[in-house]
Amino acid sequence: MREPIVAVATPYGESAIGIVRLSGKGVLDIVKRFFKTRGEIRPRYAHFGRLYDEKGEELDEGILIYYKAPHSYTGEDMVELNLHGNPRILKKAVELFISAGARLAESGEFTKRAFLNGKMDLTQAEAVAELISAKTELARKVALKQLRGELSRYIRPLRDSLLELMAYIEADIEFAEEDIPTLTKEQVLEMVDKVIKGIEELLKTAKTGRAIREGIKLALVGKPNVGKSSLFNALLKEERAIVTDIAGTTRDYLEEILNLKGVPVRLVDTAGIRNTEDPVEKIGVERSRKKIEESDLILFVIDASEELTEEDLRIYEEVKDKPHIIVANKVDKGVKANLEMFGEENIIKVSALRGTGIEDLSEEILNRVGVQLGESYNVYISLRHETLLKKAKETLERFRKEYKERDISPEIAMLDIREASDYLGEILGYISTEDVLGKIFSNFCIGK
Ligand code: GDP
Repeated sequence: MREPIVAVATPYGESAIGIVRLSGKGVLDIVKRFFKTRGEIRPRYAHFGRLYDEKGEELDEGILIYYKAPHSYTGEDMVELNLHGNPRILKKAVELFISAGARLAESGEFTKRAFLNGKMDLTQAEAVAELISAKTELARKVALKQLRGELSRYIRPLRDSLLELMAYIEADIEFAEEDIPTLTKEQVLEMVDKVIKGIEELLKTAKTGRAIREGIKLALVGKPNVGKSSLFNALLKEERAIVTDIAGTTRDYLEEILNLKGVPVRLVDTAGIRNTEDPVEKIGVERSRKKIEESDLILFVIDASEELTEEDLRIYEEVKDKPHIIVANKVDKGVKANLEMFGEENIIKVSALRGTGIEDLSEEILNRVGVQLGESYNVYISLRHETLLKKAKETLERFRKEYKERDISPEIAMLDIREASDYLGEILGYISTEDVLGKIFSNFCIGK
């Protein structure tokens, strides 16, 4: 068991209950020095008791739960103390346990230990952080499925096929002289093809997976009064995403995030692009341009009930080479604008005021950023998974080509297959470096 760690597991602030969590060697003894209960402490039972400081003065009362290794979240001995949610009490408790030999946990360290102790694989550990930070119902569902091991269930068989293939090749190398069953060239290719297909299926979910996790950035662009804010509100009407402050950081405002069928959509506000000589306004324009650059998709809004103006066309020049949708607003007042001028087929007609066309627009937005939602997928991969799956696929394709075209030695074949299986193993965390783990777990909250 590893050295004892301690952290407050609940958010900072006054609350009904605050939880202090410990994991590792000797944590029960550490806690027992300051938290007194009646009778023997039994694993998985709630014990009422009182917390005393180093001078024996009573600090609080609460409930202790002891989890004995390996039946705990981390797989180590763990103690959770439910105290009153006063930051001073919780801080003092942590200090006392540190004085008794525990050290402050790093962010995600409990989950990291759960992973290191084989309680979960890396995709499941990642899902823990995603479940906590999920901004929409869909994001929550996707995270929960991954936590249940759904993604691993896809990847493990693919990796197993490669391991099986390696076993055959190895036998081929070792017992070349003997008469043992080996695979034909066709059989090898068939197995490799199957793995490549499986990888491709997963890769199809990458764009959607990214959108669900990271959200998409949408820029609303258009001259004043065309109805940009009205459009935003019309889109917002669907369902507001739940946005919370990130623990430990203060932000002066809460961002509005749209929830388009479960995909968080962040609106990039733009001050407008105008030709201007005014230096102050110029800065604003530059900033807008930059925000447009950063967005995944631009909604270029025009007032369809009026003739187009020079200004409309000038803004169009700015956006036309970037991913964009032309939104012809105010169609409830009739269409006077010459929409053919844009030479684009796909112009979405809406009335932000009446709410017509908004559903079509929502669908088009998701379409354009490559989001595919449907019951057919149980998992949506993340950027990390995507990168590794792509590497595995490339390796297998390279192998496939060479193997088909000429006689490569089993030793060389072995190297390629092993490389591909290692990439898949890396997704699951069977192969991991401190670097990779550091990156993943630093995104966690302290105490998780
Ligand atoms: P922004 O400056 O582009 O953000 O435009 P606003 O959203 O403030 O809208 C400007 C004006 O147009 C307001 O008076 C809105 O009520 C009106 N407006 C916006 N959308 C529509 C629409 O679809 N139909 C009609 N008739 N009026 C609209």
